[in-house]
Amino acid sequence: MYIGGKWKEGQTTIPVLNPATEESIASVAVATSEDVDDAVQAAKDAQQQWARRPAVERGDLLRRWAELVDRDREKLARTITLEEGKPLAEAYGEVDFGNSWFRYYAEFDRRIEGEILPADRPDEQIWILPQPVGVVTAIIPWNYPFAVAVRKIAPALIAGNTIVLKPHEETPMSALELARLADEAGIPPGVVNIVTGPGETVGEALVKNPIPRLITFTGSVATGKRIARNAAENVALVSLELGGKAPFIVMDDCDLDAAVEGAVTSRFTNCGQVCICNERTYVHENIADEFLDRLVAKVQAIQVGDPLASGTDIGPKVSLAELEKVTQYVDEAKAQGAKVATGGARRRGDDYAKGYWYEPTVLTNVRQDMAIMQKEIFGPVVPVMSFSGFDEAMALANDSPFGLAAYLYTNDMHQVMRAVRDLECGELYINRSLGESIHGFHSGWKQSGIGGDDGKHGLDHYLQKKTVYIKYDG
Ligand code: NAD
Repeated sequence: MYIGGKWKEGQTTIPVLNPATEESIASVAVATSEDVDDAVQAAKDAQQQWARRPAVERGDLLRRWAELVDRDREKLARTITLEEGKPLAEAYGEVDFGNSWFRYYAEFDRRIEGEILPADRPDEQIWILPQPVGVVTAIIPWNYPFAVAVRKIAPALIAGNTIVLKPHEETPMSALELARLADEAGIPPGVVNIVTGPGETVGEALVKNPIPRLITFTGSVATGKRIARNAAENVALVSLELGGKAPFIVMDDCDLDAAVEGAVTSRFTNCGQVCICNERTYVHENIADEFLDRLVAKVQAIQVGDPLASGTDIGPKVSLAELEKVTQYVDEAKAQGAKVATGGARRRGDDYAKGYWYEPTVLTNVRQDMAIMQKEIFGPVVPVMSFSGFDEAMALANDSPFGLAAYLYTNDMHQVMRAVRDLECGELYINRSLGESIHGFHSGWKQSGIGGDDGKHGLDHYLQKKTVYIKYDG
């Protein structure tokens, strides 16, 4: 762990497994409640001095940190692949994308501005000052263990906060590598702290600690609800980026090649483990057969295999538990009448005897009320259902407790405008596949979240406002 600028061993450890081989690649500390308290206290002790530094100095340190990430790009990408299982090319993409948040938020060093309002009384001014919230707790998932760490750290630090970050217990190595570079970049002790271990103990202790004023979380809906309940005890702010069930709507006037390509990319990137993935495809009945034929052909061409090898499109699922969850969802859908157009089971064979492999899968004959259409699959499985009209597609898309992302492929401007107005989601992709930009605003509607990350709106969560009434002698 990295606490107050020092490395600390754990009294107990847990192994980190390579999901492609099931081999242990490291042992990582399980933080005790004292470790958690120490990390939070170190963040508190460092915060005021950090916030009082000219913002441009904080920006320079983030820029320096980004340079070191560039230098160690290869090592970081390999670390991501070894602990999470995404193909190396995707891991390089994650390093570069993640690193761009350091540079983007560093530019806010001269751009966090307050307001001066006209006063109602004579010889007065009213100021609204943005100020750091103080200590931030960040709890992150396993699917982008590097990028999501930077996504939280960079805005927290530029705003003058200090941070305690807990990576997922299965993918802690990227965050620890980031801490090593923080040290080298000259980030002062206590400004960034990393504690490791399970969510149920270490995460829980972090959230219940009364010092942090903001809990920024990315992960599942169930954990998000629990964090919100625990944070309420301290009236701490929460920003929750939770799960999704993105509908992918294909109208009969669209560019079919683009739609098929987009559907595959959006479902199978990172083995389907992206919160904005195409979780349920709705295709207009006029083109359903042709779309399906092309989709299945493309899915069958996906190369599943060693994520370190070039030419691999998708690697394993991240863990046995995740693999079993996907297996169970598909088996249940099959029992309810879903048909397997391709895939539909664990991948077996000599090369796959170890590791958590699942066949790229397309399911048809699904109904809206099946669990496979309602629950987040988070794996390489896409259920496809047809519809007969635009209104029906909108209703199906909105029939979900989630509201993170949605996709629409059409060339009809009226349909585009109606979707923009009516779809219940925080992120809408029209005629293009995933993913988001660092300066957009990544936020879930409905049970997909509260608050949000990225851009200037994401930065807002790391600031609180102080209103100052100043009387001067006229
Ligand atoms: P998860 O909720 O199981 O775990 C996320 C983190 O929370 C981990 O670090 C875990 O240790 C911790 N945690 C678990 N229980 C806790 C508790 N009681 N108190 C505090 N912390 C606790 O989620 P996951 O399986 O790691 O990630 C997959 C989920 O994340 C999916 O639902 C996915 O959609 C979502 N996700 C959302 C976004 C987004 O931006 N909206 C991005 C990536 C992933």
